[in-house]
Amino acid sequence: MMGRAVSRVEHPGFQELDEQDRELIALASAAIRQAWRTDRHSVGAAVLAGSGKAYTGVNVESCAYGPCAEPVAIGAAAAHGETEFLRIVAVRGGETGPSILAPCGNCRQLLADYAPEAAVILEEGGRLLKVRAGDLLPFAYRYFR
Ligand SMILES: [Zn+2]
Repeated sequence: MMGRAVSRVEHPGFQELDEQDRELIALASAAIRQAWRTDRHSVGAAVLAGSGKAYTGVNVESCAYGPCAEPVAIGAAAAHGETEFLRIVAVRGGETGPSILAPCGNCRQLLADYAPEAAVILEEGGRLLKVRAGDLLPFAYRYFR
């Protein structure tokens, strides 16, 4: 017996964006506009922290990997005493303009460890949505919790 196929866009965990999400996208876009390089994978991120302040970061690519933009933004927030992360978005720079990126597997683990209840802004099927970070990594490896 086959179950009903549920598209990812219809997933009950997805939520529509609000004005605060659009401001976060604008901040991440501004961060990567400043740092974008045509010869590198260039991504900006913005995180809304528990204090209500937003922090940005950009990836730091090297030939030996380098951190993604999301941990750089979370690290910037942590350096200012933030311990709660409410929303996050990553935006790729490029000649055609910024585009929203879903977190990579490594960042999904980071979010599962530090902010499983945070809302992650994603693009799915041409639509911008947000989803609970913990839902992006089911059956996550658990070391801290
Ligand atoms: Zn990543």
